[in-house]
Amino acid sequence: MPARAAQLRSCLAVPLALGARRLAARENPMTDRYAVIGNPIAHSKSPLIHTAFARALGEDIEYTRIEGPLDGFAAAALAFRDALGKGLNVTVPFKVQAFELATDRHEAARIAGAANALKFTGSRIEAENFDGVGLVHDIERNLGVSLRGRRVLCLGAGGAVRGAVPPILARATTEVVIANRTVATAQTLAGQFSARGRVTACGYTDLAHEQGFDVVINGTSASLNAVLPPVPAAVFGNAALAYDMVYGKGLTPFLRLAREAGAARCADGVGMLVEQAAEAFVWWRGVRPDTRPVIDQLTVPLA
Ligand code: NDP
Repeated sequence: MPARAAQLRSCLAVPLALGARRLAARENPMTDRYAVIGNPIAHSKSPLIHTAFARALGEDIEYTRIEGPLDGFAAAALAFRDALGKGLNVTVPFKVQAFELATDRHEAARIAGAANALKFTGSRIEAENFDGVGLVHDIERNLGVSLRGRRVLCLGAGGAVRGAVPPILARATTEVVIANRTVATAQTLAGQFSARGRVTACGYTDLAHEQGFDVVINGTSASLNAVLPPVPAAVFGNAALAYDMVYGKGLTPFLRLAREAGAARCADGVGMLVEQAAEAFVWWRGVRPDTRPVIDQLTVPLA
């Protein structure tokens, strides 16, 4: 069977398997329940990813989507817990509320001030944030680009960059520069992380004086609307990697500029998405899934 057709067949198989497992869960009260909560949530790939992990590892789980009411995150999360839910992935706009709901907050969640995963154990609600480690694993393990000794430019200073900067600095980078439209937000982040390594902040106009970076990461939400952050092409001149955290959009304006300006490699955030899911899976289940087949399945070509 051609690879593309095989991919399509396995894409279709996951929701079917999910349905079958939902049935199994209702019939088998021992099946552990997980879900992703957000609003909107219909687009979420998390059920597909976790169901694929569980199937590959023979783990008996049910994984569903919950559209949390905008004014009722805590009630929805606790209702899921009370219905014997074991854990939640949390996405926009509830990551800060999930952090606040927790009784125990792990370091990455504390640094980010936000949680993208919760674990329910008795009356304990543990909060974690795997976005940053997912990004670093994707860059170093999947894309083969070491961050050690590199100059890294992060565009944006929202939740995703806040979670990403500490694990990037932990890889012994030479310097991380955070550039943001609202410069004060970037300055606040740089100040918070200055004890962890060399990190500076600037606005986009300041980048005009830069000769180039080794790795350029777009952590803004601009690509969601096919908008290019005002980044000068020169920053990509020596880049080993240009990385857009947005996924599933093909060649975004950011990646197109990077490619034209000479970046050696371009990637979107699909690997980050799957790697953060894998970290949550290990945290919940104690077994590590192979991420490669799922990344391949979800990859949209950069064309
Ligand atoms: P936030 O809303 O917290 O932050 C958005 C950031 O984008 C801000 O810094 C904002 O700047 C900046 N921004 C928005 N529009 C523009 C624009 N037109 N030009 C320049 N800057 C702009 O979002 P998150 O940090 O949570 O998410 C950022 C992106 O990362 C999203 O696209 C999200 O989909 C993606 N993401 C991907 C993940 C993955 O697993 N692949 C995981 C998490 C996030 P300002 O401060 O000036 O408003």
